[in-house]
Amino acid sequence: AQVKQEKTSFGNLKDSDRIFTNLYGRHDYRLKGAMARGDWHKTKEIILKGSDWILGELKTSGLRGRGGAGFPSGMKWGFMNKPFDGRPKYLVVNADEGEPGTCKDREIMRHDPHKLIEGCLIGGVAMGARAAYIYIRGEFYNEACILQEAINEAYKAGYLGKDCLGTGYNFDVFVHRGAGAYICGEETALIESLEGKQGKPRLKPPFPADIGLFGCPTTVTNVETVAVAPTICRRGGDWFASFGRERNRGTKLFCISGQVNNPCTVEEEMSVPLKDLIERHCGGVIGGWDNLLAIIPGGSSVPLMPKNVCDTVLMDFDALVAAQSGLGTAAVIVMNKQTDIVKCIARLSLFYKHESCGQCTPCREGCNWLNKMMWRFVDGKAKPSEIDMMWELSKQIEGHTICALGDAAAWPVQGLIRHFRPELERRMAEFHKQVLAEQGAKQI
Ligand code: NAD
Ligand code: SF4
Repeated sequence: AQVKQEKTSFGNLKDSDRIFTNLYGRHDYRLKGAMARGDWHKTKEIILKGSDWILGELKTSGLRGRGGAGFPSGMKWGFMNKPFDGRPKYLVVNADEGEPGTCKDREIMRHDPHKLIEGCLIGGVAMGARAAYIYIRGEFYNEACILQEAINEAYKAGYLGKDCLGTGYNFDVFVHRGAGAYICGEETALIESLEGKQGKPRLKPPFPADIGLFGCPTTVTNVETVAVAPTICRRGGDWFASFGRERNRGTKLFCISGQVNNPCTVEEEMSVPLKDLIERHCGGVIGGWDNLLAIIPGGSSVPLMPKNVCDTVLMDFDALVAAQSGLGTAAVIVMNKQTDIVKCIARLSLFYKHESCGQCTPCREGCNWLNKMMWRFVDGKAKPSEIDMMWELSKQIEGHTICALGDAAAWPVQGLIRHFRPELERRMAEFHKQVLAEQGAKQI
């Protein structure tokens, strides 16, 4: 048998291989413009090929969830493809994009809403669902209006509703606006919120695929994951799998912010080197690559990486885990040497403290303590023994909570201690030197 040669260099995606061709809003986002860019093309044929065919293409594509966890999408959507037990099935699109640094789903909903709506229909057919709920974060008011406008167009054209596209399949799409809580991006909190309750995560298992919205089988999937499904079906799972490395396939939206000359959201090949991503698309780090201090590569919930790791690391799930970080939402936050890195991490601690739903003690109490300790380090007022104490505290939170918010609060602090311990020590030494100098001055 012929052994497939794996690629060794990644990135520099051609325009013809981009899925989100209206990422920068240069073209009309309405139905006419979307169709001119290929959306809704042969959708009827795709639907008529049926659930198994769609799931097969998704599995071939190697697509992994784009919301942060990277669970294989073909397998996850396939959990819903089981014998009918009388309960309706639901597709829930997670558009509650709240991860600091992340703004890719917002761009899709702003400029390419029909890709998402077409993806809802194709995903719904794959899962045997008859309705999709798009749960959009409350702050995305304009995007919710754009989505609703696009949904109305799709109903009017006969693409949604009864007998979608003349296929005999009935499918509805609803937009539901959240109320501004980060935790409602966690899938089970999102379900609670959709059901009209407080957004507090549930214990898993049972996973939503067994007991989800209104007690029914549900798949909660990220906007980008759903929006790429129609193109995968049209161009083939093999086409998508031709990008990136083994287990890390496809094209991907990266949102790059912080100390770069041109912050942007860009579609690139998976496994693109981080340095190329920044130099090619963002005009480089402010002050040049040598002025780089550290990067958080996947939204605030993953640990930072110091420059020497950033020099060579590839932007994919496996490479970033090997680098003791993660791809997360692919929100790249760049910090140069002029950044106060301790203050940045303290600010993130404040965020997680504020957003904790409070139902697990390690998270509720731990996030509060982490935040208090981090601000002591910002001022240099902490004692040297507090570094290990803070590490231990973060370990008491990590893995001991109902949802991933606890881990997300612990990891940035752990990343700081792992790579910037000398900076923490330097600040404390400076503060104590200053105190001694002041005491000395008073005695004189
Ligand atoms: P997870 O690993 O628990 O789950 C991933 C998905 O796979 C879920 O949908 C889950 O239901 C499903 N799944 C996993 N095992 C299963 C099984 N055995 N049977 C059926 N289904 C199964 O991760 P998560 O808590 O959903 O996500 C955490 C990630 O979310 C973090 O890594 C973070 O990067 C990301 N995040 C994203 C945002 C955002 O704005 N997009 C915000 C916060 C966090
Ligand atoms: Fe709530 Fe935090 Fe527990 Fe998640 S980890 S359920 S946010 S208290």
